[in-house]
Amino acid sequence: MVKRCITILGATGSIGLSTLDVIRRHPDRFSVHALAANTRADELALLCREFQPRVAVMADPESAGRLAELLADCPDIRILSGEQGLCTVAAAPEADTVMAAIVGAAGLRPTLAAVGQGKRVLLANKEALVMSGRLFMDAVAESGAELLPIDSEHNAIFQCMPADKIRNPVAAGITRILLTASGGPFREHTAECLRTVTPAEACAHPNWSMGQKISVDSATLMNKGLELIEACWLFNTTPASIEVHVHPESIIHSMVEYADGSVLAQLGSPDMRTPIANGLAWPERVSAGVAPLDLFAIGRFHFERPDLIRFPCLRLAAEAFDAGGTAPAVLNAANEVAVAAFLNGDLCFADIPVIIERTLAITSVEPADSFEIIFAKDAEARERAREQIGLLSV
Ligand code: NAD
Ligand code: MG
Repeated sequence: MVKRCITILGATGSIGLSTLDVIRRHPDRFSVHALAANTRADELALLCREFQPRVAVMADPESAGRLAELLADCPDIRILSGEQGLCTVAAAPEADTVMAAIVGAAGLRPTLAAVGQGKRVLLANKEALVMSGRLFMDAVAESGAELLPIDSEHNAIFQCMPADKIRNPVAAGITRILLTASGGPFREHTAECLRTVTPAEACAHPNWSMGQKISVDSATLMNKGLELIEACWLFNTTPASIEVHVHPESIIHSMVEYADGSVLAQLGSPDMRTPIANGLAWPERVSAGVAPLDLFAIGRFHFERPDLIRFPCLRLAAEAFDAGGTAPAVLNAANEVAVAAFLNGDLCFADIPVIIERTLAITSVEPADSFEIIFAKDAEARERAREQIGLLSV
């Protein structure tokens, strides 16, 4: 049994808390080196008291000050702040494993810092890989980092593949990846109804309990679009070899089809502690606190094709991957800005894909030759997406 020392980036979020719940169940196997979050100092302070990390980081400097006050009686916990603090703990030699669970582009630099040190990187922060694709995978290959997918679909695909051929599907005899999607809370809404849905409705996912941003992404199907791109990079394939299957029960987390007609699937309750425990303990297995699957209670599985007319985000993501270069970074940045505007009441749900499509149309695609180019395009796309939102509201 390998004892692992873990740093969690995004410790106060949905994935961070699920990760800590698995760790809590196995004090003999897992210890915590560092916990990092953005602004929720009170919550991070409570987690620090329970898990006793050596370092705690708040990305927001003011919140770091508040955390220092809250932990004044814990002199053994070092407190850092800012993106520099995140990158320092991500790269620290004391931890062998980093859970990358910051939401959005803010996670790219810290995740790369962990990759650069050749660590086991548990990747929940799909936006980091979507933005930088080949550069990210090249950094993994160069450092020898062990990149394990935590997104439930990608963890399922990983489990259905021979471990030594994850990046070589042709040699493994794989013909297709069947990527499942819940369809989100608005699967049966008409296009007209989609104009009036509220942030609270968008965040009320039928099967999964998640952070706000990914909940809205699930509702627009952009989450599946980001996952399509994520799967292309992780498993060295293209959108043409991946077919999205809407499966409203969210029990089959994805499938892999082989040349002989076999289709392997991974099933489980919709609970992120299963893929998280898989990544933490891999190649061993540990209990995750998840209730056993009761197929008699579920009864039936259903499958539908995604509706790309009502939910254009999936098409936009496939097109951005095919356009290559900086296009996926632009797609991601425009989506982050549009989702934030929707959550803030400044944009209607149905206009999220409109903003993304317009931003992609007016932002040139450059070769993604360096991370500097990616960050510059990300900033440019955010600016353009905000302008487009402004134009819509006049
Ligand atoms: P969340 O909103 O619940 O949590 C986000 C975490 O990131 C929080 O701890 C927050 O403090 C931290 N954070 C936000 N901005 C930051 C910044 N600028 N600097 C440092 N930290 C920052 O989100 P979540 O649902 O846990 O999702 C996290 C990531 O995991 C996302 O990329 C999401 O797509 C992915 N993911 C989530 C789920 C899920 O079930 N929640 C499933 C698959 C993948
Ligand atoms: Mg997923």
